[in-house]
Order: sequence, then C-alpha cells, then structure tokens
Amino acid sequence: MTQPAFDRDHFTHALTRQWRRFGLADATAMTRHQWWQAISGALADLLAAQPAAAPADAPQRHVNYLSMEFLIGRLTGNNLLNLGWYQAVDAALASWDIRLSEVLEEEVDPALGNGGLGRLAACFLDSMATVGQPATGYGLNYQYGLFRQRFVEGAQHEAPDDWQRDRYPWFSHNAALNVQVGLGGKVIGEQGQLRWQPAYILQGEAWDLPVVGYQNGVTQPLRLWQAKHAHPFDLTKFNNGDFLKAEQQGIDAEKLTKVLYPNDNHQAGKKLRLMQQYFQCACAVADILRRHRQAGRAIADLPDYEVIQLNDTHPTIAIPELLRVLLDEHQLSWDEAWQIASRSFAYTNHTLMPEALERWDVRLLRSLLPRHMMIINTINARLKKEVSAQWPGDEAKWAKLAVVHNNQVHMANLCVASGFAVNGVAALHSQLVKTDLFPEYHQLWPQKFHNVTNGVTPRRWIQQCNPQLAALFDSTLQKPWQTDLDALIDLERHADDAAFRAKFRTIKQQNKAELAHWIAARTGIHIDPAALFDVQIKRLHEYKRQHLTLLHIIALWQTLVSDPQANRVPRVVLFAAKAAPGYYLAKNIIYAINKVAETINQDPRVGDRLKVVFVPDYNVSVAERLIPAADLSEQISTAGKEASGTGNMKLALNGALTIGTLDGANVEIAEQVGSENIFIFGHTVEQVTALKAKGYAPQTWRKKNAQLDRVMQALEDGTFSQGDKHAFDALLHSLGPEGGDPYLVLADFAAFVEAQARVEALWQDEEAWTRAAILNSARCGMFSADRAIRDYQQRIWQAAR
Ligand SMILES: *Cc1c(COP(=O)(O)O)cnc(C)c1O
Repeated sequence: MTQPAFDRDHFTHALTRQWRRFGLADATAMTRHQWWQAISGALADLLAAQPAAAPADAPQRHVNYLSMEFLIGRLTGNNLLNLGWYQAVDAALASWDIRLSEVLEEEVDPALGNGGLGRLAACFLDSMATVGQPATGYGLNYQYGLFRQRFVEGAQHEAPDDWQRDRYPWFSHNAALNVQVGLGGKVIGEQGQLRWQPAYILQGEAWDLPVVGYQNGVTQPLRLWQAKHAHPFDLTKFNNGDFLKAEQQGIDAEKLTKVLYPNDNHQAGKKLRLMQQYFQCACAVADILRRHRQAGRAIADLPDYEVIQLNDTHPTIAIPELLRVLLDEHQLSWDEAWQIASRSFAYTNHTLMPEALERWDVRLLRSLLPRHMMIINTINARLKKEVSAQWPGDEAKWAKLAVVHNNQVHMANLCVASGFAVNGVAALHSQLVKTDLFPEYHQLWPQKFHNVTNGVTPRRWIQQCNPQLAALFDSTLQKPWQTDLDALIDLERHADDAAFRAKFRTIKQQNKAELAHWIAARTGIHIDPAALFDVQIKRLHEYKRQHLTLLHIIALWQTLVSDPQANRVPRVVLFAAKAAPGYYLAKNIIYAINKVAETINQDPRVGDRLKVVFVPDYNVSVAERLIPAADLSEQISTAGKEASGTGNMKLALNGALTIGTLDGANVEIAEQVGSENIFIFGHTVEQVTALKAKGYAPQTWRKKNAQLDRVMQALEDGTFSQGDKHAFDALLHSLGPEGGDPYLVLADFAAFVEAQARVEALWQDEEAWTRAAILNSARCGMFSADRAIRDYQQRIWQAAR
C-alpha cells in the first residue's frame, strides 16, 4: 500500500477549522505556538479521515504491546516525515510566511517514559507500523510526564512536567471505548461460581495517538488510558447520595494517572504504582477482548488472533486479569482459561539487577485485587506440582521458581510460568537470562527462551535528527535505507574514498557547530566545534558509571595543568542525564560533575583544551540534537549490568565511535564494526564475577595507581568545592572501603584511561578516524528496530501458533 498524496486544499480547510476554533478571524493572528497546534490538529484530522488500511493478506496475530512507558518524543515532525508530507506542508506554509522548522520547535516532548525501556516501546510502534505488523500500543496517559530538570548551583532540581496543559492536538478520544475497572472489595461465591465484588469502580478513558508507518498508508493506535471519577460500587450508598465516601476512603481516580513514576531500573513498591499497573492492564485486556468479540471470533480462539507482549514485568497483572475474566465472566473452566492465557502472553526481560526485579507484597495485592491473588495462588500451586514431579523434595529449586514465596509475588516468575515466550534484549543479556536469572526455568522449559537484540528506528534516529547525513546516504546508496537499513553496508566501499570522507566529515562538523551554538544559548558555555565531542547521554545510574567518566576528566585536567606542553587532543565532554529524585547518590554524581565542570571551564591554564558541559533536561529532543554531533560514544557500564542499550546504536549509526565495555549490545556492535573501529576496555562479565568472588577491595586498586589516587584526593580535598571537603561524600563513600565500589569503577579506571589514550591517538589521524566513523554507520544496519520486529515475528509472535 502507498501513502495517500498530500492534498493542499484539504490541508488548508483543516487548518482553517483550527484557527476558527481559537476564535481568530484569520491565520495571521496566530502565535507561533498556535501555529504548531493548528498544523498538528489539521494533520490529525486528515489522518483520521484516511481510509483504514486493508487487512493483511496472510492472517497474522495482532500484537498488543503493553508498556507502562512510551517515550515517544515530539510527534508533529516525525509524523510529517513518515507521511512524506514535510516538504509539501513547508511549501504550503510559506504563503503565510511561516517556517515549518521553527514551528516544530514549539512542541513540548511527551515525556511518558524514563529512558531506554520507554524509548524502545516507541521505536517498536514505529517499526510495527512500518513493516506491516498490525499492532496496538497500550499505556497510560499521564497528566504529568517525567519531571523537568534544571541545575541550581550544580544540584538537580525537579519541576512538574505539565505537558498537556494546553490540549495536545494529536490526541483523539472516543467515549465508546470507555472501560470500567474495579479495585478493592472482596470475593463472593454464588452457586460454586466465584465472583469479585470490587469496592470501587473507576472509569478508563481511551486517548489515542496515531502511529504512522513510513510512507505506507498505515496508521495504528497508541492507546493511552486515563482514569476518571471513582464511585463506590455499593449502589445503596450511591443512591443515598453518600457516593463521595470513595474519595474520602482514599480512591481518588484522577490521581491514578496523574504522574509517571520517575524510577528507572528500580522498584519502589508503592501502592499507587500497583494501582496504575492494574488499571492499565484491566483497560487493555477489556479492549483486546472487545475487539475480538466484535470481529465475531470465539473466545477459545483468542491466541490465534492476539498476542500480548509484556514490556518488562510492569504489566504482568494482565495475566491474572485475563484469567479472571475468562473464569468469572465467561465461566470457563481453569483448564480452558489456562489454555488461552498461557498461549497469549510473551514477556521481555530488561534487567537482571535485583533491585529492579518486581515483587509485590501478598497483603497489598490481596487488599487491592483479592480475586487476582487467589488466581496467582492457583498458578503457584499448579506450578509447585509440576516442579515437585520434576525435582521431588528439592526445596532450593522451588524457592527460585516459586511465584509466591515468603509472602511476596515474584512478577518475573509469574511471567515465565504463565507465558509462552521469554526474551532478553541483546545476545549477552539473553544468555545471562538463561544462566544467571532463570537457570531452573531454563532447565524446565528451554524452548520458551529467546533473544531479540534491540533496535532503533532509522526514521527518527537518522532521517529526522540528521537530515544532512540522510541526504548523503540517499545520494550514495541505491536502495531505500530508511526501510532496509542493511543497505548501509554499501557505504563501506566509500570509506576509502577521500572525497566521500571529506563530505562525511563536513556533515559531522556542521552538526557540531550547530550544537555548539545551541549549547551557548542554553548554558552560556562556549565550546570549540573542532574539539573531540565526547558524549555520555543516558539515565544517571551507578551501573552506567558516569562517575568513571568524571574520574577520567579529572585525570585529564591534572595532566593538562601539570604539563602545559603536553600534546593533548582538545576535548569537550558532554553529559545529559536525569537522576530519579529519590536516588541520592545519583544526584551527588550530577553535583560532582557540575562542580568539576565549573572549576575546569574557568581555569585559564586549560582554555579550549578541555571543556565539560552537563546539558540540562535530557529528553528525546535533546538526544536528537546531541547524537548527530557526537564523535565519541561513552557506553561504559559494568559488564553484565546493561541489558542492551539503544543509545549506543543511535550514536554508532550517526558515525560516533564507541568507547565501551563488553556489555549489552556493545558486544554485537563490536562484532559488526570490527575491533579496530571500536575502543573496548575493562573487565568482562567472567572477570567481574571472578574479581567479586575473590573479594574486591577498591582501596587496593587506588593504592597501586598513583594517578587514580591523585584524582580521588582532588575530590576529597575540596579542590572543586571551594574547600568543602564533604561536598561529594556520597560519591566518595560509594567508591571507598565502606561502599565497596559495587560497580567496579576503580577496577576499570586504568583500562579506561588507556582506552582513552587510544581514542586520542586515532583522533590525531583525521582520515583514519573518519574512515572508522563511516564504517560504524555502514556496519550497524542490523540495529534497525525493523529487524528487531521481524525477529519478534519469526521467533515469538508468529511461531508455534
Ligand atoms: C535512547 C534513549 C535512551 C536510552 O539510552 P541508553 O544509553 O541506551 O541508556 C534514554 N533516553 C532517551 C531520551 C533516549 O533517546
């Protein structure tokens, strides 16, 4: 199918309706922000009026992608690009003397996610629409997205992100899709048939955003649920006018979807979060069943037509919810219901870290969802039978496999026990899922385990964010790389062509100059576009080791100061990262980076040879500016901790060289680009395990490395904090004997410094660096999210139906 052509008259009419809605007489009265709203609203209207895509010839399961987070980024520019209408709309606007690129800057990011997990969900929706995989994304319509970050004297301050204060024009709301969701109450039995009698009923409203395939005429929904007014279930009370009791008893429905929890890779165990999870899942399950019923299909055939992909364990409660509906509302037997549910769910694991693995207290779960707790207990009891048959009397095995253990419900175990597939998100991670996280389950059901290496959409992460590079790809390659990213491999031949290298380098140079301009405006810091742009952008987390980069910066600065004649490469280190508001150590790392940056940036002995910038308020739009301008991509997590990473893929595709550990998808990036085009360093997973088994003591690593000792001393003695020796206590404590340096920052320091020296050596050979950068773009085609979606189709969604 092809994309309907842009119709200028239709667009003008739709636009006219928009400004009339603002109560304006004509277009020229609109503010720039109103222009953005009007253009977006007009496009949304035109999209809604498009004929629906015809169903695919080969029947394939509809994918229901359940995720608590969708970090979609700005929509208007991306939708225009995918519609293929960008130039035509730009031209149409010229008659009002309006520039589309300026108007697009008016959009605030819909920040409905924390980081990589939510961004992955957004890339997958884009790719499913593009490769023709019928899909619906299900999530929550948070009134407040991830907090806005600013720095006050170097410290992170958070402000609420009221992103839809003035109506978000891409939303469409259909009241016919409303869902009723229960909470609390008790389970009652009627003639042997159990039934849940909730204490409260909430209303779920569906707010849809269009997901536009790349120039193929496909639009499918991202359906975000919003909670509305609770009322007590008890109708007698309701009729007595006593219905406000619900609010007084603590169920304030509107509060439910008010705000996104700002934790990344960490479970806080809050009741409101569990209520959010259930609300989302109940709405999604009801919607899926409604669609199935309306298509005239039998309930027993559900798994032949629908698959429910769980993005991490956050939507796990969808499993007992589907079982509850099948058992209690459709009156199926347990075996019939289990037949359906166990063929419907697939689970993507995103982390091995214990603090991120979700567990819910049985008492809390029972108080909110008494019927679901009963169903979970049944799943657990049946699993126990199966396990005892396999390993009679092996209590240790059962302790690892149990869904309910020590009064906690283990959500990942519930997913593996109830779903038909489990996947990790990079080759190394999927291996560790089998050997470290679920060895017992892997022994029991090896066929359930898969790998699907993550990917990113080349539409947003090359074409939209780096238009000049995209134009170079267009003019160099014979194939449409936008939908066949393997086509980039043909760039290989051009890596040895000096004229092509010059073009590639000029584009990077222009992107860097633009970024320097933007950074000066945003932070007041002036950076030299000719310097090496060394970029670490991702959530602030100990395991991602922004503090390792900080130690290297201090070492560089000390070298520059003690040896002013040293032939060092001018370098700008760019950070962007938000820390969870309750993550004290992460905030102290941000503070330390900002204080070190302040000292170095003002040091006249250093000049332009070293600058450090912490770009505030990291989000998708900030990433779109930084990635095209990066020379060096910092991917330096402790081996075994980063499941995949996707920032690493975006940066490599845009011609940045990676300095990284053998972790997550870095391993596969190294395989693709070749060891001479990447800077690998540090302890491997095996070496980390061995070091910890031996008893790791960070202070011994400090003692044997004089440079490391000088760096640590500078953090301790107040050099960067106007003499305050306690400014970085949290950071120093974590790296010292008491904190124990759990992420092996000191153990990898020397190797990191050595790898950075290799970086400088290659940078000094401009042609060799550019060649390596081109080969990074050329050889990273497999990191397209389109490939990842095809892998899901083959290995999970369409296999074994
Ligand atoms: C890609 C992306 C991430 C993920 O980055 P990692 O380096 O893989 O952790 C996080 N946040 C935003 C805004 C992104 O675009």
